[in-house]
Amino acid sequence: MDFALCVFCGAGVGAKPEYAAAARQVGAELGRRGWTLVYGGGHIGLMGVVADAAIAAGARVVGVIPRFLHEREVAHRGLDALEIVASFADRKQRMGELADAFLSLPGGVGTLDELFEAWSWTQAGLQRKPCGMLNVAGYYDELVRFLDRANTDGFISPASRDLLQVATDVSALLDRLAVRA
Ligand code: AMP
Repeated sequence: MDFALCVFCGAGVGAKPEYAAAARQVGAELGRRGWTLVYGGGHIGLMGVVADAAIAAGARVVGVIPRFLHEREVAHRGLDALEIVASFADRKQRMGELADAFLSLPGGVGTLDELFEAWSWTQAGLQRKPCGMLNVAGYYDELVRFLDRANTDGFISPASRDLLQVATDVSALLDRLAVRA
């Protein structure tokens, strides 16, 4: 299937081996499904791990990296395409255009920013693309609890909350994201 998944994830590998293992599993699963990986274009942290695994599994991989990060995040040299953009805003915009769905793995401020922006686009009806969060080793437990609190307290509607799929199983989550807008 010609389907592109945008993966947001850390520029570091995190403190637990489970994080990189999950990134490898996502890359392998993309290859198995014949999907394209769209991601931030770096060769560091979980970004590098998911890209390397996707390439090894035969997936097409497209990176989108701002010019000012090209050196710092060690742009990946083995991609099918690497697009260089001017800003973070342009990176998110372009990854959003290229993707049919969004998935966040564990990560930091950049990952959270990207996930929340993509979710906000779907919530606002600017796109109909599914958003998912892979909750590896309980990394997102507190955030998921907070999102439920935001729902209970009336700031995130049940419909909007349902737009973000949270799961621990890679294959099951990708099945749920495999819906073209
Ligand atoms: P982090 O999750 O903080 O490790 O960052 C993951 C990736 O997101 C890195 O490539 C960061 O450069 C990138 N990033 C950080 N802030 C933003 C942003 N506002 N928009 C897009 N990408 C970002």
